[in-house]
Amino acid sequence: MAPTHVFSCDTTMHYDAVVIGAGISGITVALMLAKYGQRVALVEKHHQIAPIVRGFTRKHHHFDTGFHYAGRCPNNDPLGALLRYFSIAGKLQIEPYHADCFDHVKIQNTPFTFDFPLGIPAIVQRLGERFPHETEGIRHYLAQIQRVCEQFSLVDYSIPLNQRPSLQEILKEHFSDPLLIKLLSAHSLLYGTEPDETSFLFHAMVVGPYYQEAYTFKGGGKALVDLLQEKLEQLQVDQYLGSEVSTIEIDSSRRVTAVTLANQTTLRTSCAVYCGHPKALLQMVPPSTFRPAYGERVANLEETPSAYALYGVTRTPLECLHASNVIVLPEERAEVTASNSTITSGVMYVTKGRAADTTAPNGFSFFTLFPASKIEESGSKAEITERMKLRMAQTFPQFEQNLVWAESASPKTFARYSYASPGSLYGAKHCIGQTNPHPLTRVPGLLLAGQSVGAPGLIGAMASAVHTAALIIGQKTVYSELSSCL
Ligand SMILES: Cc1cc2nc3c(=O)[nH]c(=O)nc-3n(C[C@H](O)[C@H](O)[C@H](O)COP(=O)(O)OP(=O)(O)OC[C@H]3O[C@@H](n4cnc5c(N)ncnc54)[C@H](O)[C@@H]3O)c2cc1C
Repeated sequence: MAPTHVFSCDTTMHYDAVVIGAGISGITVALMLAKYGQRVALVEKHHQIAPIVRGFTRKHHHFDTGFHYAGRCPNNDPLGALLRYFSIAGKLQIEPYHADCFDHVKIQNTPFTFDFPLGIPAIVQRLGERFPHETEGIRHYLAQIQRVCEQFSLVDYSIPLNQRPSLQEILKEHFSDPLLIKLLSAHSLLYGTEPDETSFLFHAMVVGPYYQEAYTFKGGGKALVDLLQEKLEQLQVDQYLGSEVSTIEIDSSRRVTAVTLANQTTLRTSCAVYCGHPKALLQMVPPSTFRPAYGERVANLEETPSAYALYGVTRTPLECLHASNVIVLPEERAEVTASNSTITSGVMYVTKGRAADTTAPNGFSFFTLFPASKIEESGSKAEITERMKLRMAQTFPQFEQNLVWAESASPKTFARYSYASPGSLYGAKHCIGQTNPHPLTRVPGLLLAGQSVGAPGLIGAMASAVHTAALIIGQKTVYSELSSCL
């Protein structure tokens, strides 16, 4: 990896723009501004860029944390377009998920399983075979999903993501079998809201592309981040890593004048783009910056769930994980996300490690997520870890005999890595009735980007970054260049 710029504490630097937070959205904003000739600083609290998407290494095994897969439609592939735009698409190798099963869904304590194949016609056929009494609804429902993902994409900001009908309403309109409703809600996991609070349009825009083609990159999220890192160096974006922004300075005529780091370094600028959790922004600006109603709205944004996680290595691969993920849904509850989940009763998502690491000793890595929001698990870390192992053993019969080692992470770990206080997986919810902050604020030169502003996931966060960068550079310029990469 290319070396990182390090700056001494007493320098006062001048920039056209300072981007705060080098998650995937901050990196994208910084690259776009630099591509259009701006002098850009990118500031990140963590000692490396994109801590969530990069993942982490333990005992020579690399684990993806915040990127396991993405989806794309043949005629609607915003991530592919962005990678072409940054001239890195050719350097990333696409690894498709298994065509016959990209997600293997099980219902806990029952023999029910369902393999989601790739392609909407294949899903219609397989669901029709399993639920013959619902054939008509299946055809109609999936045609709606297909229509949405052909016509709209998360890049299009004119689409309201917080309006009815809800996913639950549309599912109930089409189906009477609760098992089918539960199965078709399983992918709420990809954005972290319950079916009754999720706009159907939003669900279809996120999930439709996965139904069409679920894929990852060879080498996982780290492969993408390594290439973006090179691009930052190439475009001479100054990176301040291990640096926390404490203050965004705003003068009496309400203009941004500087960004100050916790170590007192001052970066002079008239443009600051904040790409972390919007709640944290309120602490960085003078108290009178925003109207009280705005401050209150941001402070009270509802959060997506956080999670407990178990990761480790087994001697032989876990069943189904070769080119598929495993999603285990609870038997009892109709909902599939996490408002009341515990490790023993909630949703469980299992995937394998993907980063190419030739130094890893023999063994097969796995990463298991237990989304959990309102309920704090009781007991010591060791007890919580045992609970997760037990749940894995209930799902994968050979798990215990096969296990080489396993460690755990908690919502506090996720909070530490995302610097969002509740450690929410996807930041603030995008749900019916909630208005997420707009990229433009009432302070000229202070803008927002990221998953809580735009949409969740790699694609949602990057799309939000494009939108924000376009507000700075000029929408016509950006979108005409980007559309030539589609
Ligand atoms: C467990 C998990 C699994 C996921 N799986 C997938 C998946 O399979 N596919 C997919 O598409 N998406 C997935 N996601 C979601 C995806 O990773 C996120 O939506 C995306 O990475 C969010 O990017 P972001 O830039 O908006 O935010 P973040 O990644 O949270 O970036 C914000 C950055 O700002 C920094 N920061 C905050 N405040 C300051 C400050 N004051 N000073 C300096 N730096 C600051 C933080 O350190 C952080 O690095 C997953 C997420 C999680 C947690």
